[in-house]
Amino acid sequence: MDEIWSDTPSGGDFPCPSNQEGQTARQARQPISGTYVGQHGSRRLELRIDLREPDPPGPYSPLNLISGDLFQEVGGEWEYRSSFLVEHPYVHWGTDRVIITGTMSSLRHLEPAPAGHETASRQVLRITIPVYTPQEPPAPAMVEILHWGTYRSTFLCDRVSAFFRTIELEIDRITGTELPRPFNTQAVATRPADLPAFDLDIVRAYQRAGVDLHLLSDEEVFAPAEAGSDLTWTEDELHNAMQHHFSLWRDEPQWKLYLLIATHFCLYPQSLVTGIMYDSQSRDPDDPYPRQGAAVFYSTMKLAEVWGNLPSAEFDRNFLRTCVHELGHALNLLHSFDKDRPASLSWMNYPWRYPYGYNLPPGWDGTQQFWRNCRFEFDLEELRHLRHHALLEVIPGGAAFGALGHDLPAPVPASLQQLAQAPLALYVRTRPERYLFQFAEPVTVELKLKNQGQRPVIVPNMLNPECGLLQLYIRDPRGQVRLYRPLFKLCGQGQTTELPAGEKLYASVFLAYGADGFYFQEPGEYQIWAVYGAGGVRLRSNALRIRVAFPQTAGEEEMALWTFGPDQGHVLYMQGAPHLDEGNEQLREVAERFPDTNLARYIHLCFGYSQAHQFKDLVAGRVRPAQPEAAIQELEQAVSFPPKAKQSALDNITHGGAVDLLYELYRQADQPMRARSLLTETVRYFKRLEVRPEVIAELRDRAKAIEVGESR
Ligand SMILES: [Zn+2]
Repeated sequence: MDEIWSDTPSGGDFPCPSNQEGQTARQARQPISGTYVGQHGSRRLELRIDLREPDPPGPYSPLNLISGDLFQEVGGEWEYRSSFLVEHPYVHWGTDRVIITGTMSSLRHLEPAPAGHETASRQVLRITIPVYTPQEPPAPAMVEILHWGTYRSTFLCDRVSAFFRTIELEIDRITGTELPRPFNTQAVATRPADLPAFDLDIVRAYQRAGVDLHLLSDEEVFAPAEAGSDLTWTEDELHNAMQHHFSLWRDEPQWKLYLLIATHFCLYPQSLVTGIMYDSQSRDPDDPYPRQGAAVFYSTMKLAEVWGNLPSAEFDRNFLRTCVHELGHALNLLHSFDKDRPASLSWMNYPWRYPYGYNLPPGWDGTQQFWRNCRFEFDLEELRHLRHHALLEVIPGGAAFGALGHDLPAPVPASLQQLAQAPLALYVRTRPERYLFQFAEPVTVELKLKNQGQRPVIVPNMLNPECGLLQLYIRDPRGQVRLYRPLFKLCGQGQTTELPAGEKLYASVFLAYGADGFYFQEPGEYQIWAVYGAGGVRLRSNALRIRVAFPQTAGEEEMALWTFGPDQGHVLYMQGAPHLDEGNEQLREVAERFPDTNLARYIHLCFGYSQAHQFKDLVAGRVRPAQPEAAIQELEQAVSFPPKAKQSALDNITHGGAVDLLYELYRQADQPMRARSLLTETVRYFKRLEVRPEVIAELRDRAKAIEVGESR
């Protein structure tokens, strides 16, 4: 028996209250819905009553649900124990009291109930709320939990809020950006005809969902040296900024959120990302407190091709939507189209994808249609999540993004492959082709999406799992299937591309490390497959087989110890993270002690990337300048073939990217000869691997252009 419940013995069941009085009782009574808190000995109950009342208390619409969280005092701290939900509560609206009864289902966070706990459904909740008038002092509600038919816990609970969750929100911004402004629903042209006029801002948007946001006013404006409005930010820089400027930040789950209004995301201008949620701000995968912060990119939104040309009220609306949307991710809400609800009019949908989700007809843009119908709300399932799901699934710093107890990733059956209606084919492969990976070598795969139909198809322009457009699954040598979860989640403005008939889209995906740590630590055979899309058109790739070799020497075993740490994982994932001193040091040691390995080349790649770029360190309030000479040295080692190998340690796309950067650095250092021979060698190598002719032609053209420059 769960010791929380072994309490005062009591006899019998609850009598079922009659509903006769309820039909006539319509006197003025205090609002009932909201949050109640009470204690009993070393236990604490936070109860949420969400009822249809004659006079609804708040700006939100009720769901007719009761839920609660239970805590136990341990060493002076409240330790979270479990959550429960009551569906279809029976409510007796009496003249002197309101009695609510219902069957509790336990919401044990992410864990199946241990044997013997299937009886959780036998728990019955009874809440008695005395009715009082505004002149009378409030009286506490009595909350009784009947367990196993015999035991009863009783809590006396005070109503502490009209809302169901209370969250403190801190917003900071980078110089040159603006905070979102409130806008009036009548100020936008495209809206539902019957939408009432009201002013909407982040706080109001969440209050309408039953969540009380307290905005902290100590807004900081950062002006990193050399910062301009076209300043771009990597996830790491943003994360670093949050850790040091989020004054309420603590390394634990708490009802606190951080929003940074930044300039551009680092993919700018190739990709116009308007917002991002930090999926893993912790460096320790065994102790993760994700979803505490989000950023939106003001300078990107201000671009003419994004929303810069819109009337100001419409810009304000889109800006606000982006903020509410990103904070929704931080509260563990997925995109509507990832929940098979592409026609949802929710904050969590993409307007341009409405109502088709992944299944967009060619040339479709649903933005206007979305706004014509949108009432600035979360959908019902999302409201249920925000208000009543198990504590850790919602609270920032709780469960990992997308990890929901009722919705754990399941392996996709192969038969789904035949369900695809779009003329698309998806492949997971290794390029250059290989089966064997060295022990501790980072695994990357290439994704290829091909239009094998006769007509162009609109597809998202990025295939990486960070964009949420496809999922990758990994079956480990023990047969366990895991969803690969990237460290970060990106949200962008309509980034689609038209894929002509017969054309392909490629991406290189780093799979070695993610939100769940290292995925390929054990030697043995793995299978990797991808699933693209959601809803009716789900497309499954082939299953790629690879093998991770056993360590050859005791030294290689040791190499794993140096490599498989969260900081090191982070550096490899981010292709460099200059502020993670310890992780960088350990990897430096690996590269020096095991210089012939593929892993060493990958480490040089990461160091090369990070030294080639400046790092905006908000802690020190300065920008660490790029170090091009050091970057050149690192990148030269990264693209060099390991001894006796006929191919690069890097996959083709990553190799090509490193060559591009190295070429650029050579040019800046005024070394045209080296730039040219690098390109010529790469052309030779890629020709041997039968890389796409257009890639080779582009490299060759660039090499030729250098010759022209010299002859002058
Ligand atoms: Zn999003």
